[in-house]
Amino acid sequence: MIPFNKPYLTGKETAYINETLNSRHFSGNGIFTKKCQAYFEQHYGFKKALLTTSCTDALEMCAMLADINQGDEVIMPSFTFVSTPLAFVRQGAKIVFVDSRSDNPNIDADKIEALVTKKTKAIVVVHYAGVACDMDKIMTLAKKHNLLVIEDAAQSIDSYYKGKPLGSIGHLAAFSFHETKNITSGEGGLLAINDERFINRSEIIWEKGTNRAEFYRGKINKYGWVDTGSSFLPAEMVAAFLWAQLESLEDIQTKRKKIWERYYSVLKSRSEKKGIRIFDVPDYATQNGHMFYLVCKNVEQRTSLMKHLKENNIDTVFHYLSLHLSQYYKDKHDGRALPYSDLYTDCLVRLPMFNELTIQEVDFITSKIMEAPLK
Ligand SMILES: *Cc1c(COP(=O)(O)O)cnc(C)c1O
Repeated sequence: MIPFNKPYLTGKETAYINETLNSRHFSGNGIFTKKCQAYFEQHYGFKKALLTTSCTDALEMCAMLADINQGDEVIMPSFTFVSTPLAFVRQGAKIVFVDSRSDNPNIDADKIEALVTKKTKAIVVVHYAGVACDMDKIMTLAKKHNLLVIEDAAQSIDSYYKGKPLGSIGHLAAFSFHETKNITSGEGGLLAINDERFINRSEIIWEKGTNRAEFYRGKINKYGWVDTGSSFLPAEMVAAFLWAQLESLEDIQTKRKKIWERYYSVLKSRSEKKGIRIFDVPDYATQNGHMFYLVCKNVEQRTSLMKHLKENNIDTVFHYLSLHLSQYYKDKHDGRALPYSDLYTDCLVRLPMFNELTIQEVDFITSKIMEAPLK
């Protein structure tokens, strides 16, 4: 069986975790945490990087930093993971879902402005499959209406928009190191802060609402409770795991991008004859080898393709169920139809993508796609 995903180990994880154990410093914000954070700040230009226990948690920090309150409105795509709205809903926000683009599942930037009201506080963008949203358009709009932009960059490590790293463009950004992402620490995440206004408060929220981070830096001689917050920082063992992965990031990315390129070059022209669409990466964006997906003609075609691949021992999966139709939100949604979001819900299928997938296996998968008996 070729699995859909197989998390990669670089081989150094155990040594670094053991180093942590031997140091007798297991709680957060230690040597490995600082190494990881410095790496992200140096490589991607984030003004401040804070490791978190998940991307979901990093998004919760964003909702707290954005000071989202009861009745505020937050604009985001419907075709995304539940963590994207969850943090904002918990702060009492009303979510205004926007449709996806016709040429990829990202938020349709041209449909945002009509939805901005006096209550709108933020736009949350999701760079689906690590391919950038149309950020110039979105940042211009945000500036005009005085809105915050938060990037759900969960899938976007080492991907770029017009040469700028994803996660460095919005005011705040959240990354994931869940085992399904390009680099992992099991569960894990990162908050990137690009607007200096938020740096001080982000450290406080990260450390249970206390000014402990300043205390450790020797800036104050005792620390206390000064704000809201939670325990968002991961244990040092998690940071040690992540450091091993970060050291191999370049190799991992090279490998994954090659797999993506192979899928694309074999399938692009040939699959379209069967009515299966392969989307191009926009000129302003890059792919980061996070995901390779196809969009079938209809749900029946997707079901028979996935069945055919399963019979050939190839595991494929579909993706999000539009959140505006979810059990939790359908009655709160304002009723607008979001046809592209529904299209990706019904027709998108993700192919196996992981570091150790061989080019021979990719060729086997694409040959089975081409021979699938599809209507
Ligand atoms: C994976 C993912 C998340 C959640 O990440 P966790 O680290 O598991 O909390 C959120 N948003 C998107 C778009 C994701 O792909």
